[in-house]
Amino acid sequence: QKKTKLIMTNISLPFKNSKKCILAVDDDEDDLHTLKEMLLKQGYKVITAKNGQEALAVYLDKKPNLVIMDDMMPIVGGLEATAQIQKINRGKFTPVVVMVSSNEMSSIDEVYSTGAIEFVRKPLNWHVLLNVVEHALKLVEYEASLLDLQHKLTYTQELAKVVYWEWTVQTDRLFTSPLGCKMFGIAHLENPTMKQCLDNIIPKDLPIVFEALENAKIGEGALHLTYRIKNQQGETIHIDSLADCQYDDSGVLIGMKGSAQDITRLHKAEQLIAHQEKFDLLTNLPNRRYFNKLLQEFLEQEEHPGLSAVVVLDIDQFKKTNDTLGQHNGDILLKNVALRLKNVTRKEDIVARQGSDEFAILIKFAKDKNELIQSTQRVFNDLARAFMIESKELFFSFSMGVCEINEFSKTSNQLVAHANVARTSAKSAGGNQLQFYQQSMNAESQKYLMLENDLRSALKRKQIEVYYQPQVDAKSHKLTGFEALARWNHPTEGLVSPVVFIPMAEATGLIVEIGQFVLETAVAEVESWDKLGFKNLHIGINLSPRQFVDKSLVERIQKVLNNTSLDNKYIDLEITESLMVGNAEHHVIVLNKLKDLGISLLVDDFGTGYSSLSYLQKFPIDTLKVDQSFVRNLDTKEGKGIVNAILAMVEALNLGVIVEGVENESDINFFKNKNAQSFQGFYFGKPLPAKETRQILANFMARDK
Ligand code: C2E
Ligand code: CA
Ligand code: CA
Repeated sequence: QKKTKLIMTNISLPFKNSKKCILAVDDDEDDLHTLKEMLLKQGYKVITAKNGQEALAVYLDKKPNLVIMDDMMPIVGGLEATAQIQKINRGKFTPVVVMVSSNEMSSIDEVYSTGAIEFVRKPLNWHVLLNVVEHALKLVEYEASLLDLQHKLTYTQELAKVVYWEWTVQTDRLFTSPLGCKMFGIAHLENPTMKQCLDNIIPKDLPIVFEALENAKIGEGALHLTYRIKNQQGETIHIDSLADCQYDDSGVLIGMKGSAQDITRLHKAEQLIAHQEKFDLLTNLPNRRYFNKLLQEFLEQEEHPGLSAVVVLDIDQFKKTNDTLGQHNGDILLKNVALRLKNVTRKEDIVARQGSDEFAILIKFAKDKNELIQSTQRVFNDLARAFMIESKELFFSFSMGVCEINEFSKTSNQLVAHANVARTSAKSAGGNQLQFYQQSMNAESQKYLMLENDLRSALKRKQIEVYYQPQVDAKSHKLTGFEALARWNHPTEGLVSPVVFIPMAEATGLIVEIGQFVLETAVAEVESWDKLGFKNLHIGINLSPRQFVDKSLVERIQKVLNNTSLDNKYIDLEITESLMVGNAEHHVIVLNKLKDLGISLLVDDFGTGYSSLSYLQKFPIDTLKVDQSFVRNLDTKEGKGIVNAILAMVEALNLGVIVEGVENESDINFFKNKNAQSFQGFYFGKPLPAKETRQILANFMARDK
């Protein structure tokens, strides 16, 4: 009686899907065969099994899209197999259509309880079967796409850290995703409650949350609040929550549903932005704006016992330092300066970065002027200690200006401006000093700013002039050459010393043009002397470290050399020791290129900077110029010691020596029988303009004959 009757054979459904695979299961071979044929005809792929056990094995192996299962079969029956498939599919549809032979309702209940999608009666009505099959396949497909959507949604929620939640008041049950539990700090994912969630809220924020719950109870339908939770890892999580409330007919709150978003990252970003508005990124000190605000607040305080003052300071020739050390080391220096200033001041004082290499300090309530002087001097002395950069001990000098709070300097603008005037005054006096503001300084500082401004047009207005200072052979005292030294003929200030305007030119970058001008002028001048018969004269040209930043330095020098009949070997480029620290690799390359042109390289002011032996060996240097400060100290034991040490080193490295600042006979006597090549100094001649130099050239010639 279990025979299948073929009722309709030529049905074709509008929605054929040839790719779908169906597993047909029946213990009756004829029925199974007919079923298979029928399904094949519809374009399905068909696999078969003869009982429940076989069906399970095939299902696991082939993962068909749908199973059509006879209910009663030997070994393992269809209903049991269906229940097994449901277990395998856990949570998903069990795509099984069961063929039922019995007419009883109870057996139909049984079929559904296994998780089967649908049932068809035997004998089969093909039309019904095919529709059921098609319908079931669609359901499976819908479910799959639904699951896919859910998966994407979960993924997005995880990315955005947003979760959905529902709360039932009566049971206190909180329904949410595992991510939600994690966000609310709930450890046990099974049956979470609102109470567990509330337990994790930071006590400070509980009042906000309770107030919101109270409002919900008295009928506020929608809530929006942010609060913090301590999660299982002990981290503080900032949560932004939206909720809709549900009420029963009598207006009693029965539940809520809503979203919760973890906004910790946003919060941190906000905090960071707020911090950055006030603090300098590099040193973490208050920035200029925030310092002004703090200063303002301080000035508005009622009580001002004792003396308070604003200090501003900067690093002398920082631009040059930054160029030679490299940006990275420059930053390290600034950070170290910040640290030192913090350490050497009291907690209540305020240290700030004003920009670039400028710092400011508000010193609060010194007992009296004496204590104020001591505090500022302590800062100044502390900065004079060596800084460790690239594991080398480097020294820097600072210019510091101090302005006390008094009736002439009482607003924050006045205080900072006047402290800056004092700093400028310290700078124009050669730097490396601390000055207290005095009203007379305004004029000086005005003058400094005027000079800096005028310097921009000095070259164009032909105000820069080259002076020449003779150099002589240390043994014979015969003339060997000159050093070219720049002068500035200012229309109202008269002759301005290079000690004043070269640092200005370095700070503004004008040194590149000025340096080039001196080189061109001096080379042309010496060439003209050569043509007059004054042969084989060297010319020393000072090169500022800042000129090494200019990428066309080698090219510029080469151009000058190409345009002169002088032999390149008579050109002595004087560089400073600072080139040997920071960016040294780059400088070696440039110096080697210069060396390849056939010129000679001198290290100027040797002993005052930070050269090390290893650098001296790496750099293509011919000659050292012993700094005049050592020569000035030759009457002391230490002075003699240092110069002797330098001379010994020079000998070991096989370099030449020029002694600078030779002013008298005793200086010359000291170097007798020592390995110095040349002398330069007032004893042999001061720097003079080109015209005067031509005259003394003749004198030298006459003398040297
Ligand atoms: P420097 O290169 O060390 O030049 C030597 C300085 O010592 C010159 O000062 C010179 O006049 C001075 N001097 C020479 N002999 C004696 C002496 O016996 N006793 C004393 N007390 N001083 C002596 P000057 O001309 O004022 O130049 C100062 C500095 O300005 C130079 O020091 C150099 O660093 C810089 N400078 C001058 N011209 C240029 C230039 O064209 N380019 C660059 N980059 N720097 C320059
Ligand atoms: Ca020099
Ligand atoms: Ca020198």
